[in-house]
Amino acid sequence: MKEPELDVEIRRDADVKLFPFTDYFVGFEKVAAVRSLFGAKTAKVLKDLKVEFFSLRFGYMSVSDEDGHILISTHHLKNAELNVVYLDVVHELFHVKQFMEGKNLFQNEFEYVDSPIEVPAYKFTIEEAKRIGMKTEDIIEYLKVEWVTEEQHARLVKTLALS
Ligand SMILES: [Zn+2]
Repeated sequence: MKEPELDVEIRRDADVKLFPFTDYFVGFEKVAAVRSLFGAKTAKVLKDLKVEFFSLRFGYMSVSDEDGHILISTHHLKNAELNVVYLDVVHELFHVKQFMEGKNLFQNEFEYVDSPIEVPAYKFTIEEAKRIGMKTEDIIEYLKVEWVTEEQHARLVKTLALS
């Protein structure tokens, strides 16, 4: 495409503001599930981990496939139930581990609920959900997110052996 002739200048090299994960999430290095991901390096991984906050109302959390930092919706962080935020962080830490292993976090040829990145992350997360005492019906509800259709949700519930 031909470059349009515009009378404006746009600086396209914007910086992303990053904060230490541990400024906002304290004590995750003591969680057995998190320790199972990073082993003896857990405290160091979390100490070096960065978070970026965004204020869009859609999307909750994700992991950058450029440098492995976590992106978090300020709206979600503030308004979601505490156990949901907790489980989302556990889920994203699983993706951090996948990133560290060199895996491609965005497998666009798969639907979200079938992704070889997402399914193991959800398996890991629902084990933690059970451990903190969430009922199966609440876990099934937790898996309902805006970008997943009813049919995809049902498939994920089945894949995770929750029904
Ligand atoms: Zn995920």
